[in-house]
Amino acid sequence: MSRCTKTSGLEIHHKRRDGGNGIDNAEVLCQNCHAATSTYGLEGKSPPEFSPHIKELALYLAGNQCQCKRTGGCH
Ligand SMILES: [Zn+2]
Ligand SMILES: [Zn+2]
Repeated sequence: MSRCTKTSGLEIHHKRRDGGNGIDNAEVLCQNCHAATSTYGLEGKSPPEFSPHIKELALYLAGNQCQCKRTGGCH
């Protein structure tokens, strides 16, 4: 229902920490929503960076908009 409508400051979030760096593990989030994810900034093993190509593709598929639909109050 409520999707974040931010289109600036977008980052690519790893859906699952152990999910690799492919497009299926990429979620476009604005800085605010990214920081609100449970795994953001956690200590320990960080997932491999997305390649520039995957980032571009993820942004394209998301329509250059934050994909967050969480209801935790981040947007
Ligand atoms: Zn957002
Ligand atoms: Zn959000």
